[in-house]
Amino acid sequence: MGLFLANECARRGMRYRVIEMRAGQSEYSKALAIFPRTLEVFNMSGLVQPFLRIGNRVDSVAFMTREETLARMAFEPEGTPYPFVAMVPQDVTEKILVAELRRRGGEVEYETTFISAAEHDGYVSATLERRGERVQVTAKFLVGCDGAHSAVRHLLHLPFEGGQYDGAFMLADVDTNEVLPANELHLCPSEFGPLAIFPMSATRRRLVATVDVMGDGAPSLELVREVVAQRAPAGFEAQGLHWSSYFRIHHRHVGRMHVGRIFIAGDAAHIHSPFGGQGMNTGLQDVWNLCWKLQLAVSGRGSQELLESYSAERCPVIKGVIETTHRITQAMGTKSSLAQAIRRTVIPLLSHVSAFERGFVENLSELGIAYSGSPIVEGGGARFWDDSLGGGQNIKDRFLLFVPLDANDSIRKRAAAFRDSFPDLLELRYARTVHLTLVRPDGYTACGGKASDSARVLESMYQLMTRQARS
Ligand SMILES: Cc1cc2nc3c(=O)[nH]c(=O)nc-3n(C[C@H](O)[C@H](O)[C@H](O)COP(=O)(O)OP(=O)(O)OC[C@H]3O[C@@H](n4cnc5c(N)ncnc54)[C@H](O)[C@@H]3O)c2cc1C
Repeated sequence: MGLFLANECARRGMRYRVIEMRAGQSEYSKALAIFPRTLEVFNMSGLVQPFLRIGNRVDSVAFMTREETLARMAFEPEGTPYPFVAMVPQDVTEKILVAELRRRGGEVEYETTFISAAEHDGYVSATLERRGERVQVTAKFLVGCDGAHSAVRHLLHLPFEGGQYDGAFMLADVDTNEVLPANELHLCPSEFGPLAIFPMSATRRRLVATVDVMGDGAPSLELVREVVAQRAPAGFEAQGLHWSSYFRIHHRHVGRMHVGRIFIAGDAAHIHSPFGGQGMNTGLQDVWNLCWKLQLAVSGRGSQELLESYSAERCPVIKGVIETTHRITQAMGTKSSLAQAIRRTVIPLLSHVSAFERGFVENLSELGIAYSGSPIVEGGGARFWDDSLGGGQNIKDRFLLFVPLDANDSIRKRAAAFRDSFPDLLELRYARTVHLTLVRPDGYTACGGKASDSARVLESMYQLMTRQARS
């Protein structure tokens, strides 16, 4: 998350430092799935091209046992330029982000550990340790993207509430034959426990499965083959092993994501089951939600309420992610024969209900995330996508007012007068829409309404903007 935040700071022309206690980036492939909303976010931040080039595209999910296909669902969400999941190993994602950061003139400070920090009037001072030496730095804000064991979270005394799932899991990245299509993700419930098969390419897969005991060291190819023989669709073979690991799963989250000028994002604030592949995606969206607010605050244009809205908006989303991944884990996870029987009948039935399929796709794609109920949003707070937002230069610290192309002169004049009240903060754009829509710098709707009611709608927008930002 720190790498993405650093990239965003660089793109926005902010001064920043990004530190990492290790000597380099991790070589582990960990998170694989990059969902459509994350691709849209990468597009808005000017990063999407390498992910589109490298990612293996998945647009189908199949529930399969050894003998039969229980159900198959298209993963093709509508209304997005990216109706698929891009499978990119996390070490590759990190390499792309480091390369892009360098291209933008930035550098990660490796072998530098965060030790502690204190907030003062208007700034934060932090103690770092670099190769045995203590260093003091000051900044207007500090963001802890320091993972599940976050020192920043501990410093803020934020309880990490939740628990641990029973049972242990194994993960393996393996070479395979080509029996299964590369564009399909396979979820395989079985009486031995579940197996999930994520396609990294036509001949490489990530396997995640429950195991009865965690052995010493990493799972061997023999064990992986045993699991495959028990649970995978017939004919599928694991031929070579690249990386494997045992792990246990926790589901935990904080109740708030900042104290004063110190924030946390990513695994520092929430961890959950990997079934659903939401961890990294959710963390990236924490950062996306936060960075425009920090930018306005750093330049003296953001209100306290704007900064407070980070926790208010992200905590409900995170709870939703934990619930979704919990349901998937429960549905996949139990071995009892009753549960098996229910799964065999319920999964095929549900997958034929289009509302279920739509909900499943919308949830996992993260396109359905909305900030309704936020103190800085009026209405549903839904995602807004328009090609004019993409490319890296088109949305940064400005709100956008979208006006219907066919709006009459009086509406256009009112909209222009509204824009002139916030000269550095608001841009007017015309689009094929029937609504006046105020879009935040992260591509979510702040407020909207019928153009025919423009006086009232623009007044609401004015009130909303004056509460959170000044030009
Ligand atoms: C096996 C596995 C599979 C996964 N699969 C998926 C998936 O398919 N999809 C998905 O979305 N997510 C997945 N995840 C989750 C995903 O990897 C994490 O959500 C993501 O890495 C979180 O990123 P982060 O930057 O918040 O934390 P991390 O990746 O943990 O990064 C934190 C960084 O901070 C550094 N650090 C820690 N403390 C300090 C300190 N005091 N000073 C300086 N530096 C410090 C660490 O060295 C580390 O590099 C998976 C995770 C695992 C383990």
